[in-house]
Amino acid sequence: MQGEFDGLAAVVTGGASGIGLATALHLAARGARVACLDLRPDGLPEPLHGIAADVSDDGTVRAGIEAAAEHLGGLDILVNNAGIGAIGTVETNADDEWHRVLDVNVVGLVRVSRAALPHLRRSAHPAIVNTCSIAAHAGLPNRALYSASKGAVQALTAAMAADHVREGIRVCCVNPGTVDTPWVRRLLAQAADPDAELAALKARQPTGRLVSAEEVAAAIAYLASPLAGATTGTVLAVDGGMHGLRVRPP
Ligand code: NAD
Repeated sequence: MQGEFDGLAAVVTGGASGIGLATALHLAARGARVACLDLRPDGLPEPLHGIAADVSDDGTVRAGIEAAAEHLGGLDILVNNAGIGAIGTVETNADDEWHRVLDVNVVGLVRVSRAALPHLRRSAHPAIVNTCSIAAHAGLPNRALYSASKGAVQALTAAMAADHVREGIRVCCVNPGTVDTPWVRRLLAQAADPDAELAALKARQPTGRLVSAEEVAAAIAYLASPLAGATTGTVLAVDGGMHGLRVRPP
């Protein structure tokens, strides 16, 4: 059976866990050759190829993208997914925390994109998909720094789409809501009553449940696929209706 990504090569940053891992597996199952750039790329399932890289370190990013392009025989799809969280307000996050999170979530995306663009220019179906968040627009309490970082990712998506549209390179992003990943499970584990916290989290979703990593992966894959050839600069919400439903179900 033919896969929609047959013949295409993809790099997924943060591809060793959660949304990144689900995306890498989704693309590979549909024919793509996939490399995962991650801080800890060990133990990835077949046929994913792991490459150690830190998106906050330009040297490892450049080396990682070159290694991926050589191993995969080119590069058609870049998924900028690596990211870290931060809890706090403008009063509670110190400057070094701002620098660290923006360095990973924003400048990290820039570094990886800069290294990948020369390879993407040689592709017949080049695409970049960024993992953003509803935090970019939702006004989440106690998430000032994280929200600022994802606001920048959404703005960068539009700016990059404009800069590269005449080269045929498409740039889109997904805005996930609350996704059931190791990240969210780690946060829940810190709560006084993790079960009650999970129930409250689900109750806040219009759908009454968390988004799955596979649902986000499917959205990223669509935006990355040649089927989305007329779609660029687009934000696709995968948030259980958090953004689209102005009126919540009772
Ligand atoms: P996760 O913690 O399960 O996975 C993140 C992966 O990124 C890990 O494998 C980690 O090693 C890697 N990583 C972290 N810093 C890195 C760095 N400096 N260089 C390279 N790799 C690095 O998290 P997740 O929930 O799958 O989140 C993935 C992305 O989705 C993030 O950008 C996050 O902001 C975004 N997001 C998550 C949610 C959610 O509810 N889980 C919601 C909206 C957006």
